[in-house]
Amino acid sequence: AKVINEMTLEFLSQSRNEGFVRAVVACFTAQLDPTINELEDSKTAVSEAVTNCIVHAYRDKSDYCPIYITGAYYPDGKTVITVRDKGCGIEDISKAVTPLYTTDTGGERSGMGFTIMESFCDKMTVSSRVGKGTTVRLVKKIVRPQS
Ligand code: ATP
Ligand code: MG
Repeated sequence: AKVINEMTLEFLSQSRNEGFVRAVVACFTAQLDPTINELEDSKTAVSEAVTNCIVHAYRDKSDYCPIYITGAYYPDGKTVITVRDKGCGIEDISKAVTPLYTTDTGGERSGMGFTIMESFCDKMTVSSRVGKGTTVRLVKKIVRPQS
């Protein structure tokens, strides 16, 4: 179906932008008149993806690396958000998305980011190339019952 609205966003890999992205995604998603819960779910999923770009994709890089977000929604309420980086990439995606799997050795991460993204949207797709970067695609249907 023909897209109703689309947006693209590029920003730097700085943790201060986690809040910025949550706000942008909330404003964009709000156009579909979501429930508070649906809005929270979208914000949570996107911020997990962005945090991963900052702490994993660009782990040995400066905090001036690019992160790209796109958003789109369709007449049936299907909403698609992508989060992309040009970082280190993921060698084994199925391992990475396993609950509790983390490459973090400092004990700061719980390895639940992908699991949270998966449960807070209808469909999550991860594509990645080592040394090239990673794209996470989050799909969620937001439909208001007719009143
Ligand atoms: P948590 O999200 O609970 O703080 P985590 O980030 O380690 O911990 P996930 O978000 O599920 O857990 O990610 C699992 C693993 O996948 C990470 O430890 C990392 O190795 C890898 N990973 C995730 N996102 C990226 C990315 N954008 N680029 C490179 N590696 C990534
Ligand atoms: Mg994570």
